[in-house]
Amino acid sequence: MIPHSEDTGEPVMRGEKTYKIPTVDILTWLFGNKGYDHNKIVYVDALHPERSMTTREVEAQVKSLIGGLRSIGVKPGDAVCIHSFNDIMYPVLFLAIIGCGAAFVGTNPGYTAFELEHHFKISGTKFVFVQPSLLKNASEAAKRTSIPTERIIAFDTEGQQFRAEDGLRSFKELLEYEKEDWIKFDDERSAKATLMGLFASSGTTGLPKVIAISHYAWVAGSVLLRDPLERPYEVKRLMCLPSFHAFAAPLTIGVPLRLGQTTYILPRFEFDAFVNASAQYEINETAVAPPVLQAFLKSPPETQRKLKTIKRLWCGGAPLNVKLQSEARRCFAADSEIVNIWGMTEIGITVGMKYNEIDRTGAASKLLSNTEARIINEFGINVTNTGEEGEIQIRTPQCCSGYLGNPEATRELILEGGWVRTGDVASFKDGKLYIVDRKKELIKVRGWQVAPAELEALLITHPRIKDAAVIGVKFGGEDDEHEVPRAYVVPTEVGNITEAEVKDFVLSKLSKYKALDGGVCFVEAIPKSPTGKILKKIIRAEWLSKEGQ
Ligand code: ATP
Ligand code: MG
Repeated sequence: MIPHSEDTGEPVMRGEKTYKIPTVDILTWLFGNKGYDHNKIVYVDALHPERSMTTREVEAQVKSLIGGLRSIGVKPGDAVCIHSFNDIMYPVLFLAIIGCGAAFVGTNPGYTAFELEHHFKISGTKFVFVQPSLLKNASEAAKRTSIPTERIIAFDTEGQQFRAEDGLRSFKELLEYEKEDWIKFDDERSAKATLMGLFASSGTTGLPKVIAISHYAWVAGSVLLRDPLERPYEVKRLMCLPSFHAFAAPLTIGVPLRLGQTTYILPRFEFDAFVNASAQYEINETAVAPPVLQAFLKSPPETQRKLKTIKRLWCGGAPLNVKLQSEARRCFAADSEIVNIWGMTEIGITVGMKYNEIDRTGAASKLLSNTEARIINEFGINVTNTGEEGEIQIRTPQCCSGYLGNPEATRELILEGGWVRTGDVASFKDGKLYIVDRKKELIKVRGWQVAPAELEALLITHPRIKDAAVIGVKFGGEDDEHEVPRAYVVPTEVGNITEAEVKDFVLSKLSKYKALDGGVCFVEAIPKSPTGKILKKIIRAEWLSKEGQ
């Protein structure tokens, strides 16, 4: 039985419980759990384990850094950017920025100067903490957005081969200041009105958007993640996803402090480093994007043996194919589980509760508590209880405050009653949520809807296909123009797969209208974001446009 909304009476799906969301500031919430010993180590540098921090140490460093940040003029409401790969000092800086009442701005360390410039502009960035190796692009972008040099600080943390660049202030100096307390509040108005972060969407469908997140929304995320993350065993989590991203930040930064769970941090995903860290620390939990699972599955048994302590993987950011999800389990502990996480920057991690049994149907995991979902078809009709596909809309206390400086886009995103339009097509069947694809990516083949995600998932199961991306291309003459799927395929090293073989493979498994009538192109690599999303805008701009499509 599908429950009904309390306010409108329409059918909705709902998370299991309803918690009261505290209205305190984030730091009070994260450091305020007296339920574990704060001398416990929470962050460990996975490459240099002698670098580690207990909760007590994190709190002390954050307080000193708040003094340091204030000394350089960081004020409440300022946007302060961290442009860096992961590091155990990343959470310290992140929390100190928020503790000043300022907002964290996260940028992808892989950004070009042009992309960074866009980001600094739309977020109104005032200060930039930059890992010295990334200084070139950051200072070029800062110059173009009139951020003065004295507001660029070298994020030269200990232990790695960082060096303070000439002329730049060093982050380390800012840790030497007298401890100062963070901005505190405990009322709903302040919790909702005070921004803690300006997170960027991945920019998969266009330029990244700056999404304003309040203290209330982030505390809510941390409250709601407690259920799926509470464990009967001592957690040793390995995180390699980028901390600037809304999927990784709560797991890398927030959860370890609130729940007292030890988290090993890698600067970024690097295959050997990940596998070795897993074996060395006997990691039992981790979060990855689907391409990483694919890489594990295709790795030799001696590599897979090093992953055998992993009991639980959170996999999200991009579609996870059911075959990959079930086959990849053999790389990990015998009772391991791969949880298909779905969410988006605007609403945080939205699903994460596991099913009672191991899901073998390709469903996303269950909605978090306090979270409601409904499916709205193309005629605006609520089809949550019919099993039909439509846009999934979400109501959650994790909802963002909107797109920064873009009220029009915000109005399109957040509908009356607080429902968020996700732009993703999904359905509920037998109480389980199935994500189909992005609305924008669906291919209409003579009226039939084809989800590229389904074709991609199938293609990568072929033993001679390493990776694949599918987009719609125009087909037919003037009177008969329509869209058909085209695949870009990366063959495995042993290669030797022909276009006809790829097409036949699809035809042997799927309905005829899903045939690759737009052709098969062989490429060396599929462009992807750090969270595993296929960057189709690059495929269209760089490969397709050359053909005059
Ligand atoms: P932009 O909005 O800038 O185009 P983006 O939507 O990729 O970028 P994110 O907020 O990082 O930016 O990603 C959210 C999107 O990622 C979702 O809307 C969905 O399309 C996709 N996604 C995330 N997790 C999953 C999943 N488990 N299965 C399918 N799709 C997923
Ligand atoms: Mg999006």
